[in-house]
Amino acid sequence: MKVASGNKKQGLKQPAKAREGKTDTACKRCGTCCKKGGPSFHQADKALIETGVIPSRCLYTIRKGEMAYDNVRQCLEPVKSDIIKIKGKGDSWTCLFFDEAQAACSIYESRPIECRALKCWDTAELEALYAQKRLKRKDLIADIEGLWDLIKDHQERCNYDTIHALVKAISSDRAGDSRQKLAELIQFDIEIRKLVVSRGGMDADMLDFLFGRPLHRTLK
Ligand code: SF4
Repeated sequence: MKVASGNKKQGLKQPAKAREGKTDTACKRCGTCCKKGGPSFHQADKALIETGVIPSRCLYTIRKGEMAYDNVRQCLEPVKSDIIKIKGKGDSWTCLFFDEAQAACSIYESRPIECRALKCWDTAELEALYAQKRLKRKDLIADIEGLWDLIKDHQERCNYDTIHALVKAISSDRAGDSRQKLAELIQFDIEIRKLVVSRGGMDADMLDFLFGRPLHRTLK
């Protein structure tokens, strides 16, 4: 999921014992945490995104109400607000910034707060931080005229409470209205993404951050 892997490239000085992996109270640079998914962002990380140290195209949003695995509670449940995360490499969960050849974080000096907090031998610090002061899309893009209105409209129409209700209703809805409404929302979700790219000139890699992952993918 997160942390630690030291970073030779950025000259991180680790205690000799940790480098040699001779203790189980320091990072051994196994990379396991970075291969289990990138971190979630908190208010303390805002500047990393605003200054482009971590570009928005490297992020995705789990939208309010979307089902997600809670690493602390260890269960799948709808999230209570936006969770912004670093994308994985390809179809894997491995954090985009994990350098597998070096077994190191390529942005180690600028890694997000969750990565700093997670120690696999003692997760107390991460657990205390985990659901606190999460960064939301609004914190980053509410000032962008036009775009934020589109995102709000999308969030309202494609909210996961509605979607879950429609999915639940499908089996007992003989007329097929629920299926039809769901199909319309999926189509709207597709179209709005196309629109901001074709007419707004948006980088397509930004879409999963702006609108969350596409409905046709999350509904699978
Ligand atoms: S940002 Fe760095 S430390 Fe954090 S999960 Fe990604 S590779 Fe690991």
